[in-house]
Amino acid sequence: MSGMVIDASTELIGVMGWPVKHSLSPAMHNAALRQLGLNWCYVALPVHPAAVAVAINGLAVLHFRGCNVTVPHKRAVMQALDEIDPAAKALGAVNTLAFIQSESTGESNHVRIVGYNTDVPGFLGDVRTHGFDPCGRRVVIVGAGGAARGVAYACLSAQAERVVVLNRTSSRAEHLLADFADSRLVAGSLTPDALVEEARRADLLVNATTVGMWPKTSGMVWPEKVKIPDHLVVYDLVYNPLETHLLKKARQDGAVPVDGLGMLARQGALALDLWTEQALDVDEVTALMREVCLRAFKHS
Ligand code: NAP
Repeated sequence: MSGMVIDASTELIGVMGWPVKHSLSPAMHNAALRQLGLNWCYVALPVHPAAVAVAINGLAVLHFRGCNVTVPHKRAVMQALDEIDPAAKALGAVNTLAFIQSESTGESNHVRIVGYNTDVPGFLGDVRTHGFDPCGRRVVIVGAGGAARGVAYACLSAQAERVVVLNRTSSRAEHLLADFADSRLVAGSLTPDALVEEARRADLLVNATTVGMWPKTSGMVWPEKVKIPDHLVVYDLVYNPLETHLLKKARQDGAVPVDGLGMLARQGALALDLWTEQALDVDEVTALMREVCLRAFKHS
């Protein structure tokens, strides 16, 4: 593995957010770039919400190859783009930008700015590596925020038979239902009874809430005293801690637990694959990025 040398040929990529200092992405991407021997560098880009469009145009002018987008800019960036891929458009959320330089025409270069959502293929790819294909299956998603929308879209586009979205604030689940307008989608209020009842009839249970996330690690969406059915795959989007209270219970009750770190790593690998124009072994880069995150957790 070669060390990172920044010189006049270094290509730039990064992540824009506000704040962005907590992001694991620079460590994840730079480790992958070093391993791949690419003279690229990934930096954190703190961008105030009032300056999103200016920042994007600035990155394009500065010949950045691409950029990840995190909270709170995933929707706001859309107005500054030339093209948006179907998943990102359906979700109203972009988490990856690609700056595509066209040949210089006369005195100016034109840059096409394209938005993607790699959370969708990131989730699908990861759940499939755990042996679960949503095609023809029943899914229960807890939560109706940005992540839940991505998972619902992913499962519907992968031909799931039924997708149930349960949320604490039921109006938010109803909004999701109205936006997607798909007869396989059902929305409801998150109550212990509704969750247990729907999960009994499902194949995959996804926690897409912040419940259980550090520092409130004792939280869990599932009722403590009820056994989690052992036929279920239980996917927790939370990745810090890696084994949430929900996943620990799923394991103890005989269900199949899957942590959210694989999705985080895979969406990163897919973004790098886009920027490098599909030149990568995504599984290999995902594994590498996951390792980097695990090391970062051990040292934090
Ligand atoms: P978000 O848009 O803020 O949505 C948060 C969701 O959590 C809402 O549905 C909210 O319900 C629910 N919630 C919060 N506190 C709750 C409580 N005490 N009881 C029940 N529900 C509660 O956040 P997001 O972007 O969707 O992210 C959700 C989680 O997914 C986060 O932990 C994030 O780190 C994780 N995530 C992981 C990945 C990955 O790659 N693994 C990717 C994206 C997100 P209300 O609507 O009622 O407030």
